[in-house]
Amino acid sequence: MTIAFVGQIPDDEMAGWVIRLSALLPNENIVPFANLTDEDKAEAELAIVANPDPAEIAALPKLKWIHSVWAGVERMMAELKEVEVPIVRLTDPELSRTMAEAVLAWTYYLHRDMPHYQKAQTAKQWSPVEYFKPSQKRATVLGLGALGNASAQKLKEAGFQVSGWSRRPKVIDGVNCYDGDEGLKEVLEKTDYLVVLLPLTPETKGLLNKEMLSLLPKGAGVINFARGPIIVGEALRDLMDSNHISHAVLDVFDVEPLSEDSPYWTHPSVTVLPHVSAPTDTDTASQIVAGNIQTYRENGEIPPAVSRKEGY
Ligand code: NAP
Repeated sequence: MTIAFVGQIPDDEMAGWVIRLSALLPNENIVPFANLTDEDKAEAELAIVANPDPAEIAALPKLKWIHSVWAGVERMMAELKEVEVPIVRLTDPELSRTMAEAVLAWTYYLHRDMPHYQKAQTAKQWSPVEYFKPSQKRATVLGLGALGNASAQKLKEAGFQVSGWSRRPKVIDGVNCYDGDEGLKEVLEKTDYLVVLLPLTPETKGLLNKEMLSLLPKGAGVINFARGPIIVGEALRDLMDSNHISHAVLDVFDVEPLSEDSPYWTHPSVTVLPHVSAPTDTDTASQIVAGNIQTYRENGEIPPAVSRKEGY
């Protein structure tokens, strides 16, 4: 049966996905949207997508469900509002491992005060600062989903005091769990390193504003590996300019690629990363997508879909 591959990605990238998925699903005919016949479009009940054009999805009237090869669904939630069929996103343990590795690496960057030593070297200053053990510092992960939970575990293994915040209450061994508006305020007050791994939804957009970020103790560091608009940029910059927040590691921005005139490029308290904290592994992602499609063909079971109401 024909499966449509719908994506606004470079042709060679799309060809790579189609080759990998076809090798794992030899009984399926996986075809890029541009090569579908009118009959294929009329019959396709499944689409595999990577940043799909909504008009192309609308041209597939018999779709029963959509499987994204990516984990983030923010753009689809905004662009595929009219589409009623379930949208399944990628949940890949390898992606969680990669994100947790990045979170630990950049938490160590803040913890071992590498921004300080970089500035000291530039100024030719021999300037040792006091050493702290991880157990003396508090790391908080906002969002305890696939990526946040794995990151909290990694920070815990490294010896930090770890807290986490989610929408629904959670119990995670060795992690102080908070939820709700009051929970957020409470945990921010007890945070030395703040790691943002929330999805971007109407509730989380602008969540970390001046009022919230000001609750962090003086000297705290911020790591945003989720989506740019969750943090109000001006508030973050004001708090870094007043040395309330010591440093921010930013992998995600309101507009990507970051524009040449963005103040982040040259801000002395910012590390800019080009959205690289957890790239999708096409091999493991293909295996997971293929496995889900095989299960569907065997027993009609569609994996848990993204919630339209909650937006993630
Ligand atoms: P997920 O499994 O859907 O988990 C989301 C977490 O956020 C859940 O714990 C959820 O709480 C919590 N949450 C959502 N809305 C909330 C709210 N209003 N208040 C409090 N907590 C809230 O998502 P994920 O797979 O971990 O991914 C998180 C985000 O990472 C993605 O949405 C994407 O933006 C980003 N990402 C970035 C990269 C990169 O390379 N930079 C790569 C992949 C993904 P509950 O548990 O209570 O539902």
